[in-house]
Amino acid sequence: MSRFWSEMARRTEPYVPGEQLNRAEIIKLNTNENPYPPAPGVTEAIRSAAEGLRLYPSPTADPLRQAIADAEGLGQENIFTANGSDEVLAFSFMAFFDPGKTIRFPDVTYSFYPVYSNLFGVPFEEVPLRNDFTLDTDAFLGADGGVILPNPNAPTGIYEPLDGIRRILEGNPDCVVIIDEAYIDFAGPSAAALITEYDNLLVVRTTSKSRSLAGLRVGYALGSEELIEGLVRIKDSFNSYTTDRLAQAGAEAAFRDARYFEETTAKIIATRGSSAMRLAELGFTVLPSSANFLFCTHPEAEAEQLYTELKSRNILVRHFSKPRIKDYLRITVGTDDEMDKLFGALEEILPN
Ligand code: PMP
Repeated sequence: MSRFWSEMARRTEPYVPGEQLNRAEIIKLNTNENPYPPAPGVTEAIRSAAEGLRLYPSPTADPLRQAIADAEGLGQENIFTANGSDEVLAFSFMAFFDPGKTIRFPDVTYSFYPVYSNLFGVPFEEVPLRNDFTLDTDAFLGADGGVILPNPNAPTGIYEPLDGIRRILEGNPDCVVIIDEAYIDFAGPSAAALITEYDNLLVVRTTSKSRSLAGLRVGYALGSEELIEGLVRIKDSFNSYTTDRLAQAGAEAAFRDARYFEETTAKIIATRGSSAMRLAELGFTVLPSSANFLFCTHPEAEAEQLYTELKSRNILVRHFSKPRIKDYLRITVGTDDEMDKLFGALEEILPN
């Protein structure tokens, strides 16, 4: 604590990002990045955009928003972009959640939500997931200040079908329900299809996972024009140029290459299936994942110790020291070759 810090700086408990050890020998399965490179046109688009770096970017990112609108079958007025979906989420808290009103999110969920709640002074209630880590949708009805939840959830990977999302939307007609779809491209249908029906729905997405652009920092939101205008008001009171020239060009190129996106996503989903089976053969209990990671626990091995043993073999996975999930590891789905190395290491480490 410093005596110079504002009350806001004092009360915040910052988010701790996953380790970013980017040495070549490391197999990085800890922050849900895509194991495949971005679409082939992305680098060239960024290179040409670099020629214009002297100039500010478009504050409204129109060509990128149009590419997203085309991919989603929505209008440009339904799209908002910012510097990673974390920034979209931060703006959403400011735009839609009030300090006097309690919002709800699951007790096991993306750990940035309580951080933003504390930062912006929004009280929150953590709604327990059921014992099998599925969502108790009834417990989200009638929230005072709004709802935010990821679908599929993180770090469990469990997907809630759209009927459940509809119930939550209908049970909260007077406040905003944010569905954080960071991992939706590896899952079932998106809530984006419900935007024209529910004006209180904001869907938040990222290019960091399924579009292989974690390093570019492009997140986006889909919603009614009214909600998008709310986000723009906050952005333009904070930083008009949150999506820079390189980011706009690179992300647009990624959205224009649907085939590459579909191919890499399908490969990850296939590797997820085979990896879940191999983990089960090794004695792990694996939650049913609809994301690009697997959440698993082993009855005879402590998760934290497995994490440490894997790290000493240059394989990084994620462990969270939180009460309900401390016995679990979250393993990002890598290439088949990376997963083979992971399984080789686990065979060495696990008791026979
Ligand atoms: N939401 C969820 C559920 C996530 O897991 C992540 C990745 N940490 C994000 C949002 C943020 O992604 P980004 O800022 O890279 O778009």
